[in-house]
Amino acid sequence: MSLVPDADGLTDDHLMLISTVAEFAQSELLPLDRAWDQYSGAVYDVLPQLGDMGLLTLCVPEVFGGLACPYRVYAAIIHELAKWSPSTSVTVAVHSMVGRIIQKYANDALQDMCLRGWAGVKHFGAFALSEAGAGSDAAAVRTMAVEEDDGYRISGEKMWITNGMHARWFLTLARLQGVPDSESLCAFLIDGDDPGLQRTQIHGKLGIRGSETAVIHLDQVFVPKDRLLGQHGQGLNVCLSSLNEGRIGIAAQACGIAEACLEEMTSYASHREQFGQPIGKFQAVADMVADSAVELEASKNLIWRAASTVDRGHSDRGACSMAKLYASESANRIAYRAVQVHGGSGFVQECRVEQLFRDARVTPIYEGTSEIQRMVIAAELAKKAG
Ligand SMILES: Cc1cc2nc3c(=O)[nH]c(=O)nc-3n(C[C@H](O)[C@H](O)[C@H](O)COP(=O)(O)OP(=O)(O)OC[C@H]3O[C@@H](n4cnc5c(N)ncnc54)[C@H](O)[C@@H]3O)c2cc1C
Repeated sequence: MSLVPDADGLTDDHLMLISTVAEFAQSELLPLDRAWDQYSGAVYDVLPQLGDMGLLTLCVPEVFGGLACPYRVYAAIIHELAKWSPSTSVTVAVHSMVGRIIQKYANDALQDMCLRGWAGVKHFGAFALSEAGAGSDAAAVRTMAVEEDDGYRISGEKMWITNGMHARWFLTLARLQGVPDSESLCAFLIDGDDPGLQRTQIHGKLGIRGSETAVIHLDQVFVPKDRLLGQHGQGLNVCLSSLNEGRIGIAAQACGIAEACLEEMTSYASHREQFGQPIGKFQAVADMVADSAVELEASKNLIWRAASTVDRGHSDRGACSMAKLYASESANRIAYRAVQVHGGSGFVQECRVEQLFRDARVTPIYEGTSEIQRMVIAAELAKKAG
């Protein structure tokens, strides 16, 4: 069951790519994802393979060697990846979001340098916005930038950075010293190979354990002038406008997890017998399956609608937030039901829904919590109401 409700405007190549990714994810990524969750290792180990398949350059223009997929196709691919490996999907989603920011805001030379190699391990991207004291309130960042003749020196600490252990490029929000507050927030592209950047892995996560999460320490890291993205004072806009579209990726991740849960619970309900019949024949269990199917379908439609606005060239903030809010919260409800339908069997590691239940939990938290999505949706409605 793909995310694509109708193939309108998509080519046969797009549809073929989506189904190829689905097959690859099921056969190759699923066993790895299970191992990353229970033992060790991370998506980084398969990055070269993902790059060879074009999965790291889904949104990169063809002129740089990318696949230049419509955003709907990108969302459908994130959904297929998430169904079999939630950790791979968020790794690809964050890397892709950083690529889109570079494409939108970097000068030609920087675009050429980064995006031509975007399929390679050496150009892995991360989005470094959050800090210990600045989560939902992104504008509260304390990471400092000091301007010098030919660039900036950046110091501070970024928290929770996906892809942070191996990324080369960090899209970073920092506060420029010595200018009025309104002009102080700036977005920089930091080269992780430059002196002064250190990484510390965050261990002990509830879910998506195959996805790297790191604290990034910045000690006087030098950034040349041309790696300021946007103007002084536009940094928050650069980050938030990108996050807006990025949220579709997290919605697609949640939707993939939800679809896996629905398939697991449907299959289990038709095989497991109690009181002499399959449990799926009991109304209470059938209700859980039916409610999950309806919510999954609603998620897909919200995601498709939001991704379509991006493809039409004017991403709709409200639509992106609705997709993220609904897909992530319904994925958690569906994962809960999947465990419930499995009874005690769903409570142990051997059962995949146990992992999916934990993996789903982060989706209403990162790239803007559900509470923040509701604020965005209400604000957009208020704006339209005048
Ligand atoms: C696994 C993982 C990966 C992540 N990856 C990245 C990454 O790659 N890059 C990055 O920059 N960040 C990343 N994050 C950080 C993530 O985006 C933040 O955790 C998230 O934005 C919430 O911020 P916080 O944790 O500081 O919570 P807080 O902002 O402190 O929020 C705590 C609670 O208060 C609520 N709250 C806060 N403000 C309001 C309000 N105004 N109204 C109502 N409720 C409110 C929140 O909704 C939440 O329920 C990641 C986080 C995790 C867990």
